[in-house]
Order: sequence, then C-alpha cells, then structure tokens
Amino acid sequence: MRLIDKIYIDGSFVTPHGTELFDLHNPATARVIGRVRLADEQDARTAIAAAKRAFPAFARTNKAERIALLRRMHAAMKARREELLEAIVEEYGAPVSRAGFMAEHPADVLLDMARVLEDYRFTRRVGMAEVVMEPLGVAGLITPWNSDAGFICGKLAAAIAAGCTAVVKPSEMSAIQTQVVTEALHEAGLPVGVFNIVTGRGEVVGTEITSHPDVAKISFTGSTTVGKAILRAGAETMKRITLELGGKSPTVILDDANLAQAIPLALGAGFMNSGQACIAGTRILVPRSRLGEVEELAKAAVGKIKTGDPRDPQTTVGPMVSQKQWDRVQRYIRVGIDEGTLLAGGEGRPDGLDGWFVRPTLFNVRNDMTIAREEIFGPVLSIIPYAEDEEAIAIANDTVYGLQAYVLSGDTDRARRVADRIVAGRVLINTLAHEPMAPFGGFKQSGIGREYGDFGMEAFLEPKSLLGLYTAMPAARSARPI
Ligand code: NAD
Repeated sequence: MRLIDKIYIDGSFVTPHGTELFDLHNPATARVIGRVRLADEQDARTAIAAAKRAFPAFARTNKAERIALLRRMHAAMKARREELLEAIVEEYGAPVSRAGFMAEHPADVLLDMARVLEDYRFTRRVGMAEVVMEPLGVAGLITPWNSDAGFICGKLAAAIAAGCTAVVKPSEMSAIQTQVVTEALHEAGLPVGVFNIVTGRGEVVGTEITSHPDVAKISFTGSTTVGKAILRAGAETMKRITLELGGKSPTVILDDANLAQAIPLALGAGFMNSGQACIAGTRILVPRSRLGEVEELAKAAVGKIKTGDPRDPQTTVGPMVSQKQWDRVQRYIRVGIDEGTLLAGGEGRPDGLDGWFVRPTLFNVRNDMTIAREEIFGPVLSIIPYAEDEEAIAIANDTVYGLQAYVLSGDTDRARRVADRIVAGRVLINTLAHEPMAPFGGFKQSGIGREYGDFGMEAFLEPKSLLGLYTAMPAARSARPI
C-alpha cells in the first residue's frame, strides 16, 4: 500500500501540516491502492508565501532563461513517461489506448509553451506608448482528476512562461499521478518557490487559494458549479480568473455525411476519455431523414465497444474515476430511461466487471430533456433528431454551455457555414484533431478566458503603458481621457 505523505513547497518535499488521510483507488477494481496525507489551509498559506517570495526575482528573468526552464521541465516529464502512464492506468483507469497520449501530452505542452515564448514580444510600441506585458504575480492553479498531469503541466507552462510563480492544487483523487509529476518537475531544478504543489480538498486548500489576497491570478479547470464559486471568491481581491468548465457539446451530422465515417467519429467524440471529457460530443444531432440509418449503425457500433480492463489494448472505455462518479452516471441513465428512448447500454455494470464500469449507453431524446441539458461526465450519449440545418444550429446553440462542437458533412464549405454559427470555443469539422497552439476555452457557462498558445500565456500577463519615452506629447493630446 502506497503512502503519499509529502507536499512540495519552496523546492522541497515537506510533511503537510494537514493530517487527514484520503484513500486512493484503482477504479478498475474499486480497491484501495494507497493513501494520501492532505494539505490544509496552513499548508496553502505556506505555499502562497513561498511563491510570493520567489516572484520578484522570477518576474525579472528573461525569455531565454524561462525557455531553458520550460525545456528542462519538458525533458524531465518526458523521462517519466512510463511511470506516469502506469500511474494514469492504475489510479485513473484510463485505457492504455488513451493513456499513452495522456502520458505524453504533459511533456508536450511544456515544449509548446517554450515555442510560444520564442516568438512572443513582451514589449510593443502602440502610438507614442511603449506597452510592456508584465507577469501578474502569484498564480493559483486548480485542476480536476480527468487529466491530472496534463492540466498541471499546461497551466504551469503558461504561468512560468509569463514569469508568474505558482501554487498548484490538484485533485485529491490523483495523488499518485501528481507525485510522478512533482518528482519530475523537481528534477528540472527550478528556482525554489517558483512552483509549489499542495494536494488537498477543494473546500479547504482550494478556497484558501481563491480568497487569499497574495494570489493575483486563478486558473481553474473543473465543474461549472465550482467555477462560479471561485469567481465569487476572487471578486473581493479582484483576481484575474481563467475558468475552463463543463460542456454539452453538439455533434451535428449533416444530411450529406458519409455515415461510415461520421458514426465512428461521432462515437469517438462522445466516448473519449471514457466519457469523462469536458469536450465530449454528447449530443448527436441527426437529420430526421437519416434517423433510422444512424440509429441502426450507432447501436451496432456501441454494442461492439470494448469496455473493461484498461490494460487490454482493445479497450476504449474504461471505468468511472470513483464510486461517486459511477452513482452520478447511473442516476442520469435512469433519468434518460424515464424521459427518452434507450437505444443501447443501460443501467448497471457490463457483465463480469467489478470496478466502476458503466455500459456505454445511447438514447434518443429531445433537447429539452434532462440528459440532453446537463453534463453527465460518463459514456452516455443522446441522439437528437432535427428537420433542417437551421433547426440543427438552433438545437446546437440551445444550451448554457459553449465549449466545443463537431460538424460532420460531405461538403466542407457547407460544414463551415454551420460551424460559423455555432457558439463554441472550438468547432471541429470532420475531425477529432487537436491544435496545441490554438486557444482553448468556452463561450457562455463553459468558462472565461482561453488556455494554450499565446492567448493562454497572456492570461497570466497584464499590459502596462509607458509614455514620454519616444517624443514629447503634443499639448492638445496630453490630457488623459476621462
Ligand atoms: P470539480 O469542480 O469538483 O473539482 C475541480 C477541482 O476544484 C478539484 O481540484 C477540486 O478539489 C477543486 N475544488 C472543489 N471545490 C472547490 C472550491 N470551492 N474552491 C476551490 N477549488 C475547489 O470538478 P471535478 O469533479 O474534479 O472534474 C469534473 C468537472 O471538470 C466536469 O464538470 C468537467 O466538465 C470539468 N472539466 C472541464 C475541462 C475544461 O477544460 N473545460 C476539462 C476537464 C474537466
């Protein structure tokens, strides 16, 4: 049984002041595999103080120094690929078919950010002013369990590129993965205090970080409910806040789509990360003229999905992360059975499995029904029929979310016209591809702000205008507009 009893503050692994022990599970067996000793408010304050001490010197480092640090962090994460993959499979239950990407992505995002920094101009001329992009200060980075290492490294990469120092609060359910990341990043040899990692409960460590006056910036990925609480908590000290929240993404299948390609793509979008993905395409919008065809093909394809042992390379849908998540998904399946038409899957576990496995499930519902409106965060998809493209666009946008959308069509120009009218941070046309330099984030209640690329780094910067450096100001224009 593994015991994780250290947090990372000021460049050292230290015993937390907090004493609560939290069980860690293997979701594929539901068995306890370890314990983590959780940090408390005092640990959060100690970490914030360390980041605050480190900030003045770190803010003055130059681009070349920070690029070198990001490259060292990249190399350190890359060297831990196998160990991280093992932790992802064991502690999160990701199938190996996906876990490989999840173990490499954390290293990649660090290198991507080094490249962004190479081309970024921190000083620009705007008229007679020199505009300098300055780091905000101490950043609080709060991450969920569905891609622990990826979110920690992605947020840290942007903070460090900008010259901010950081306190990371990962999910308490991901302590083994976090341990691998922390050891790797420690080996990268950053100046002490530049990043600190305090695993603890959201309502304890998270609330301390989001209300502390010495934290200037919050970058949060998680549920919309917690995102709203963070926005309220940060208002008192006017924190800059980036929120990456939930989604109920539409996959619009147009009537000219080649279904042999569109169905696997739609199901891939819906069941990605075992359904525990904020960008999952959970509402599949289908033209009524092709509803019968789509339902038959989709039912057959869902029936063939391999769910079970994450170590089997054929498995594409692994277990839910926790009993709580399993219960939540089961509840939504029951609601779906009451409200709509069950096409495949249903309640309970797939035969012969003991862990927190869910049967990949497909419904036909209306867009006003609960399971078409609320984020389930499990492998449960809704087919929603529509009559014409206009109605498809209206249904796609009839949601409080706006994170991602998919448009599948035989005609890219037509798909583009539909994509232009969908309110979402990203629209993928006939693809599941990812562009790591493009901004990522949501419209509406899917969040505020963007991550990745230069947009992501700028979320940790604030512009400052200097005047009087270039020419004497003409008298007529010297007054500040009021
Ligand atoms: P969650 O909101 O419960 O928790 C996320 C993190 O916030 C955890 O570290 C948690 O401990 C912490 N937290 C909880 N309460 C807090 C509080 N009051 N103050 C500060 N921190 C607090 O979400 P989760 O269950 O871990 O993750 C699932 C959710 O995350 C889903 O809704 C999903 O859509 C969302 N998500 C979004 C994205 C995205 O990029 N948009 C990516 C992954 C997950």
